[in-house]
Order: sequence, then structure tokens, then C-alpha cells
Amino acid sequence: MKRLATTGQKVEVSGIYKCTNCGNEVTCVKGERFPPCSKCYETNFTLVRRTK
Ligand SMILES: [Zn+2]
Repeated sequence: MKRLATTGQKVEVSGIYKCTNCGNEVTCVKGERFPPCSKCYETNFTLVRRTK
């Protein structure tokens, strides 16, 4: 299942997320909010894989 996430949204699944613009990967933890991409400042991410 493909999940899309946007900066400012609450993280519902802890995992590695990939910026849809530059491919930079960021780790996000459940309960936090998505940051903007640290490289290109884009605001859209897709879930690559879950972490515990
Ligand atoms: Zn990016």
C-alpha cells in the first residue's frame, strides 16, 4: 500500500520516508510531525519501509 505524507502531518506509521522530489530518505517516528525535506525543502513523502 502506498502512503503519502505531507510536512506538518502527524506521523501514523514509524518508518523511513522518501522525498518525492529529490529522493532523500528521512526517518520519522509515530506521533511526531513530518519535517520538510532537509535537502530540497519539498513537503511530500512516501513511506519506503516501516520501522519498529
Ligand atoms: Zn527532497
